[in-house]
Amino acid sequence: MGLKYAFLGNVPPGDYDYTYCPSCGKPVIKREYFWVSEINLKGGRCAYCGERVLDHY
Ligand SMILES: [Zn+2]
Repeated sequence: MGLKYAFLGNVPPGDYDYTYCPSCGKPVIKREYFWVSEINLKGGRCAYCGERVLDHY
């Protein structure tokens, strides 16, 4: 709730870099250009299922 994607229409798809949980497939890190817009991690683990998904963070 409260998430805003105001810039979705302005950015080509190739400029997104999403990291998906290898276990449940949900996007746990959403990067646009060089900043992180959303992180669904808890201590390096997926906030949804608890799978460890930390790779380059
Ligand atoms: Zn997961």
